[in-house]
Amino acid sequence: MLTIGCHVNFGQNQLKGCVEQALSYGANTFMFYTGAPQNTRRSSIDDFLSIEALTQMKENGIGLEHIVCHAPYIVNLANNKDLEKYQFSINFLIKEIERCNLMGIQYIVLHPGSAVGLEPQEAIKNIIYALNIVLDTTDSVTICLETMAGKGTELGQNTEELKTIIEGIVKKERIGICLDTCHLNDAGVDLDAFDEYLDEFDQKIGIDRVKVLHINDSKNPRASHKDRHECIGYGTIGFDTLIKVIYNERLEHIPKILETPYIGETDEAKERLYPPYKFEIEMIKKKMFNANLMDDIRSYYKK
Ligand code: FE
Ligand code: FE
Ligand code: ZN
Repeated sequence: MLTIGCHVNFGQNQLKGCVEQALSYGANTFMFYTGAPQNTRRSSIDDFLSIEALTQMKENGIGLEHIVCHAPYIVNLANNKDLEKYQFSINFLIKEIERCNLMGIQYIVLHPGSAVGLEPQEAIKNIIYALNIVLDTTDSVTICLETMAGKGTELGQNTEELKTIIEGIVKKERIGICLDTCHLNDAGVDLDAFDEYLDEFDQKIGIDRVKVLHINDSKNPRASHKDRHECIGYGTIGFDTLIKVIYNERLEHIPKILETPYIGETDEAKERLYPPYKFEIEMIKKKMFNANLMDDIRSYYKK
């Protein structure tokens, strides 16, 4: 069965709010940040909201085992020049995993980190050191390292780098991989030859490590190292290629998460933004491109 969802906002209603958004999009899974992705201000987990969310999930066939959390961007385990910041990143990730455990969430997606002024080998050592501490201090949750576009000094933009990181981890059973189609494209992978990429991935890392797929089109050509997401079928990867990735048999049981951009509209001089997910999920389920996607989204949410 297709497990498809999207990024939702944790907000005040926490997991309960996430479930409601997911259902409104026709999704059967979702991914959230426990607060704003760009900062580390977090409220404590409300057990009552979690319990209500779990009931709603059960009623609607959303499996808790497919739900994904994403660590905030500012967690950078690669650079230790500022020891205080490095330590903060480690501590924050530990707390984030504890929050996941309180809600029964199994997967947390993490950007491996940016070297910013360090040699890549040095940066990778830092990532390994930090991850080993985090895994030693926490339980259960699998950390899914995301494949990156290679913007700036990002690590994890090829299977070789990810492989090196995993080799240094003691508790390897709690390390997974999140493949992001926009990032793969921007890092230079030809998604039209996705099966060949998976063959190589399987050889180097093992396909069983893939726990999450991020499904995005890209605003930029292959190997641009830009990382700007586009709506499904409206970017350089294209609808048919993304459909083939989504329905690839080797990744059938893996949750697929959309992180495509909201659609803008200036109405009475006010800028409005609408989520594209309901209509993208519809296209994906039907395997049929909607050339009126933007208009459909605007007219649906305008009411
Ligand atoms: Fe990400
Ligand atoms: Fe992503
Ligand atoms: Zn991205």
